[in-house]
Amino acid sequence: MNSEKSESSQMLCVCPECKNTLDLSRYPSVASGMVIECDHCGMTLLVKEISAGKVMTEIVDEGK
Ligand SMILES: [Zn+2]
Repeated sequence: MNSEKSESSQMLCVCPECKNTLDLSRYPSVASGMVIECDHCGMTLLVKEISAGKVMTEIVDEGK
């Protein structure tokens, strides 16, 4: 575990569903094509692209 705070990989991701900012600390290496889950509404999100520290996501239709 790395207890020191690193500013180099601070990325911002806003959930397109609930508009809350996701905590990406549990995803140490976010990359396009990766699927993450909103910790606020539980929506599954696909990472489309990462630009200027912002993570663009798209809601994944889980086909229920
Ligand atoms: Zn959400």
